[in-house]
Amino acid sequence: MFASVLIANRGEIAVRIARTAKRLGLRTIAVYSEADSDALHVRVADEAYAIGPPPARESYLVIDRLIETALTARADCIHPGYGFLSENAGFAEACAAAGIVFVGPPPSAIRAMGLKDQAKALMEKAGVPVVPGYHGERQDAKFLKEKAYQIGYPVLIKSVAGGGGKGMRRVDKHVEFDAALEGAAREAQSSFGDARVLIEKYVTAPRHIEMQVFADAHGNVIHLNERDCSLQRRHQKVIEEAPAPGMTADVRAAMGRAATEAARAVGYRGAGTVEFIADGTKGLNPGGFWFMEMNTRLQVEHPVTEAITGLDLVELQFRVAAGEILPLAQEDVRIDGHAVEARLYAEDPERGFLPSTGTLAALELPAGEGVRVDAGVTAGSVVSPYYDPMIAKVIAHGADRTEALDRLAKALGATVVAGPRSNAAFLRALALHPEFRAGRFDTGFIDRHLAELTAVDARAEAGAVARAVEALLGRDTAPASDQSAWRDPWSATDGFSLGVPRALDLGILVDGEPEKAAANWGQGGVGVSVGGIDADAAARIVPVAGGALALVGGVQRNVALKSYDSVDVDHLDGDGVVKAPMHGKVLAIFVEAGASVRKGERVAVVEAMKMEHALVAPIDGTVSEIAATVGAQIAEGAKIMTIESAKGES
Ligand code: ADP
Ligand code: ADP
Ligand code: MG
Repeated sequence: MFASVLIANRGEIAVRIARTAKRLGLRTIAVYSEADSDALHVRVADEAYAIGPPPARESYLVIDRLIETALTARADCIHPGYGFLSENAGFAEACAAAGIVFVGPPPSAIRAMGLKDQAKALMEKAGVPVVPGYHGERQDAKFLKEKAYQIGYPVLIKSVAGGGGKGMRRVDKHVEFDAALEGAAREAQSSFGDARVLIEKYVTAPRHIEMQVFADAHGNVIHLNERDCSLQRRHQKVIEEAPAPGMTADVRAAMGRAATEAARAVGYRGAGTVEFIADGTKGLNPGGFWFMEMNTRLQVEHPVTEAITGLDLVELQFRVAAGEILPLAQEDVRIDGHAVEARLYAEDPERGFLPSTGTLAALELPAGEGVRVDAGVTAGSVVSPYYDPMIAKVIAHGADRTEALDRLAKALGATVVAGPRSNAAFLRALALHPEFRAGRFDTGFIDRHLAELTAVDARAEAGAVARAVEALLGRDTAPASDQSAWRDPWSATDGFSLGVPRALDLGILVDGEPEKAAANWGQGGVGVSVGGIDADAAARIVPVAGGALALVGGVQRNVALKSYDSVDVDHLDGDGVVKAPMHGKVLAIFVEAGASVRKGERVAVVEAMKMEHALVAPIDGTVSEIAATVGAQIAEGAKIMTIESAKGES
């Protein structure tokens, strides 16, 4: 076994690799960009080295610098994680040239599977069923369009160099082909520097089912069963599980055979995943699945396989890379219960899943029986725009699928992400969706149900917002860290007795939009409602600069009190006396005795319940008396000034 490893990655996967490496007694070496100097993956490693500016192109993807760092740190091996350089054959070669073991397959296997067209041709030769279509060299539009027609619509245009669901277009009609081809090629060129595409039959009601394979350097190739990754959005995985619902022993054996054959065909070594697309219309059957691609690395969703097999895939990767024989044979691989993983992202489902960056004002990740969380951040971490905005993976394991999904839903319900928006509520809605739970789903499921999956419970939201207003008005005791911002006026020593309940309409800002809240003061403190919905004591309130975050069921609203700057109608009583609208403090008086004022002119400001109330002259006239002083506490209804009518003067 190795004595040390340099982890050429960041985030949750770097943290996860370090965990196993430490358990195996390896010295762990982290690398980080300028944006990550304080990142969790740096904190958990034994050593860490800066490798450049925030953009990945200038740090995590700079092969020379990584090799140089590995040599400086005397690393025995480099684990690339997933993404970044994990499927870069040149990087694997550079490691070998420097005498450092690359924890991954041989460069030749990475190359063979690197381009989808070549991989498909290779698999066809090896007798692995591939999705019907065209994956030859010719790229002229007219020819490709003819091919699409022959294949029969719908078809899928795919970038041969593609990954992460990019450079893909589904085409349903012949007339739409040219525009789709242009779009796919353009995206492929800009994302992968390669405009070439292939055309595939679009499989109806598709299920994405993939096989985890493992091979050692001694000719042993096994599979660790399948994962179902059909819950996708824009061809990207959202929830993954193992085993696949509806999987039979026959289909599993056929898929396992195809996957291990694929691995053998390219001289594979280490962990890999062979992705298949299955026709989900009539249930899974041994003739109803086709090879899509092979990912020659550890997969994001590997923990569900670990949960049901009881294996540590990263440990197996290290062992195989160190030249050991796979410690188990195919018949030793077991399936224990069911596991499901959800990818928790800093993104906003209410706004088209746009990435949502910023500081994590609060982060509470779930724990509990059968629950595993792989996170790359902690509270206080910054989700930066430079990298994939994944916060954590939440994995639940149970005796059966229902138990696993129940545990996942509960875990997601207990997850608190404050600051950046998250998809926690969306993921929970998925885990609870009756059709998904019944096993009736394919890759179009999320799109078909998007509206209900992203719907916000307006009543719950109002209750949470009301609760935030209560907190801002100071009813709640302060968190120890920030006493000043959370004073409690009802135990304050301003000497006022609490009279009869008083009500006030408050102007508030919810995510910057003006709204109204109703506050009622009584002996018990303040009670707030929004749109007739009372404050929900169960809502989570997190103080932030200028206001508070209200969280309920994974939905987040930023709530602030609006500075009051409007005419206080209740106190425009016309008799020329300007009174305090409520208990408070005089912040400013804008006029002096003898000044002439116009009706509606601001004459003073009173602060009450952390808000400023502008007091205006009720009539045209002259200030005859100032009855209060700036800085003084005043009782509700107390006289601040008197204005004598201009008419009386003339
Ligand atoms: P999976 O989720 O099945 O492991 P993905 O294709 O979603 O595989 O990719 C896993 C990770 O690798 C993601 O973080 C994704 O953003 C990243 N990734 C995938 N392909 C590329 C690529 N060509 N270039 C850069 N990053 C990629
Ligand atoms: P990537 O490299 O981006 O992961 P894949 O070839 O693995 O590209 O495809 C990504 C996703 O697109 C699949 O998981 C599947 O949902 C969908 N897909 C791919 N090929 C087909 C197909 N022929 N028919 C239907 N859906 C497909
Ligand atoms: Mg794929």
